[in-house]
Amino acid sequence: MTAYLIRNVSPVGGEPTDLLIRDGVVAEVGAGLTADGATVVDATGLVALPGLVDLHTHLREPGREDAETVESGSRAAALGGYTAVCAMANTSPVADTAGVVEQVWRLGREAGLVDVQPIGAVTVGLAGERLAELGAMADSAARVRIFSDDGHCVADPRLMRRALEYVKAFDGVIAQHAEEPRLTEGAQMHEGEVSTRLGLTGWPAVAEEAIIARDVLLAEHVGSRLHVCHVSTAGSVEVLRQAKARGVRVTAEVTPHHLLLTDQRAESYDPVFKVNPPLRTAADIAALRAALAEGVIDVIATDHAPHAVEDKECEWAYARPGMLGLETALSVALDVLGPRWDLIAERMSRVPARIAGLTGHGLDPAPGVPANLTVVDPAARRVIEPAELASRSRNTPYARMTLPGRIVATFLRGEPTVLDGKAVK
Ligand SMILES: [Zn+2]
Repeated sequence: MTAYLIRNVSPVGGEPTDLLIRDGVVAEVGAGLTADGATVVDATGLVALPGLVDLHTHLREPGREDAETVESGSRAAALGGYTAVCAMANTSPVADTAGVVEQVWRLGREAGLVDVQPIGAVTVGLAGERLAELGAMADSAARVRIFSDDGHCVADPRLMRRALEYVKAFDGVIAQHAEEPRLTEGAQMHEGEVSTRLGLTGWPAVAEEAIIARDVLLAEHVGSRLHVCHVSTAGSVEVLRQAKARGVRVTAEVTPHHLLLTDQRAESYDPVFKVNPPLRTAADIAALRAALAEGVIDVIATDHAPHAVEDKECEWAYARPGMLGLETALSVALDVLGPRWDLIAERMSRVPARIAGLTGHGLDPAPGVPANLTVVDPAARRVIEPAELASRSRNTPYARMTLPGRIVATFLRGEPTVLDGKAVK
């Protein structure tokens, strides 16, 4: 195992220092370190963050390997500064059994680029009719702790209650895609001025807010853990604020795209901007950014959703919802939040690692800590070129935009997965 000496890097909230990485851990931290045989990485002007952790990634394998594989998605994640991702269950077959979650987990280990933590489905086949074998998935080699029907809402309140009750035994968490399906039938974009002007069926904010309100009450009643996926409206923030003030065990995430892009993008009719929940208004964005800084929203999660060309480059009405996110998330966060590194580390690494129960991730570099970290050049600016992304898909909403920040290196348990901004394997 090679040792790495990262010279003159700024840890979060600290002065530039050297980090010696050896045998999978941060061996030493201090100025002027030396180590025979270590590969030296000059990190002057760069920042060392704990490796990023994504609570919401679609890796598409098994079933849609034309859009993404565990390996290609893992490479995209490493290039984005991630050391762990939670893989959503809406694959084909659905990850609703111990067999499928173990398959995804094993594929992640084989790729060896990030830790892939499978999320299990809440209901069989994501059909919303009966509970999947949550216990078998929790007991499997994949040790599933987060369950979600993401892509679909667990709309039946009785099923939602039973799911929350079930996972309480092993301190699991139900991650809800909050969308009251009766209020979003045929929806194409955010319901508001722009949808009226374009004549497209709207997805009203209240369809999200109503489910979150119901679910925080259910979680409170059961005393169980709820996580709300991709919060997108100012009203949802208020519901979460009240629930947290009462002590409900609820956490929430926001995506990079919901922090940066508004529903006006739909005016282009370019389906790359079609996503679920839809892009909202400038007022929603302002509320989401404030909630993130305040801690009402706990986490930035990518909702990385690769789609094959034929599913995306078609008429708006027929296009699948979803956007790529892994390779651009840190840059969008930096653009939106500025160089508030402690906040970025908190929302993109420490807190998501804690929610997912991923010990060894989300830890700032210190002697003896597993060397899961990423090194960022905050001064770099880059133009996003879809053709240069490691994902198998090309549906980035940031094409040809200039964004700040560049991932220079990522280490997974002391081994580089990215060096000089390039994937190592
Ligand atoms: Zn979703």
